[in-house]
Amino acid sequence: MFLDDLRADLDEIDRLGLVRQRRSQQSPCGPHVLRDGRRYLSFCSNDYLGLAAAPELGEALAEGARRWGAGAGASHLVSGHYTAHDDLEQALAEFCGCQRAISFSTGYMANLAAVGTLAARGDAIFADRLNHASLVDGALLSRARLSRYPHRDLDHLAHLLATTPARRRLIVSDTVFSMDGDLAPVPQLLELADRHDALLVLDDAHGLGVLGPQGRGTLAHFELASPRIVLIGTLGKAAGLAGAFVAGNLSVIEWLVQKARSYIFTTAAPPALAHALLTALRLIRGADPQRAALQALVARLRRGLGASRWQLADSATPIQPLIVGGNHAALSLSRSLDEAGVWVPAIRPPTVPEGSARLRISLSAAHTGGDVDRLLALLSTLEAAP
Ligand SMILES: *Cc1c(COP(=O)(O)O)cnc(C)c1O
Repeated sequence: MFLDDLRADLDEIDRLGLVRQRRSQQSPCGPHVLRDGRRYLSFCSNDYLGLAAAPELGEALAEGARRWGAGAGASHLVSGHYTAHDDLEQALAEFCGCQRAISFSTGYMANLAAVGTLAARGDAIFADRLNHASLVDGALLSRARLSRYPHRDLDHLAHLLATTPARRRLIVSDTVFSMDGDLAPVPQLLELADRHDALLVLDDAHGLGVLGPQGRGTLAHFELASPRIVLIGTLGKAAGLAGAFVAGNLSVIEWLVQKARSYIFTTAAPPALAHALLTALRLIRGADPQRAALQALVARLRRGLGASRWQLADSATPIQPLIVGGNHAALSLSRSLDEAGVWVPAIRPPTVPEGSARLRISLSAAHTGGDVDRLLALLSTLEAAP
């Protein structure tokens, strides 16, 4: 009976155009990949600087494994913490201009920790409606009261803050929204946090390495710093590897060390990874030319689609969503590109709101202008199709 129910639920998501498929690649992450025995030009990854397959980073990982072996052996508070983790945390704090940082195995876990541990029953969390799922899950775990405000709607947020009876308030937002590519109004969020004595939790998964001088992220882009800011960065995107961190005020980070369940009750990430991440940080700092090239690709794509029927959402980052609307329409466009050897994922609910299924085109400094032109040419032929 249980299994029959599951089968029926699976049939239902199929009918709605919501079945997801894993695609197994036979080559490393990059703009040109081998998948299902075929070569594809890929606009799928979050490897914004092209570091995921960079030989220097692979070598750093191998060096880390030679120095530290393969595994950490235990959780951080037992015996899984190494000087490699300390060195990484210090470098991350310095990189982001924060007092201290704590490293996590994934961004999902870092967000569960930051939101789920800093707020508790009786507190209030105010979250942008388009925030990443992990921030929502952290809020649910906290048992605090969660209010989701319309995307980037500062007036609505100000009203919620002015009328909450809760003494402790947390404002939570993506900095660069992961499926839309637009920026949160971070300076204004900080003003509201100051005015209402709130903490401001910012998820910089798509800003770190991409925005700001030396890729220092969204805070550097806006030239902001404040003890109220709790910053999350992930290290599997522009940094090309895996892992994440929370950075901020000393008391905030110490509280996470003491209380965050997704830190305490899990085996520490391999010290070899922490070792390699130091190289990733160095590569990010030195990648201003790659960031300039990436901006040029963004401009090229937007210029190229400017006059066509394909409309990109308003985004200045490497995340360039082409909003289609229906689930089946988005899938069908993605399939047409696929048949021509170009891989752009269709993103559907619940990842994005109902009725806003889209192709999420993500650009990398590893792409060439020619790669973008190929996508443009293909989209223009599809435009002509009935
Ligand atoms: C990818 C992502 C995460 C999760 O990070 P992982 O390291 O992949 O677990 C969190 N927040 C945002 C906005 C993301 O895009």
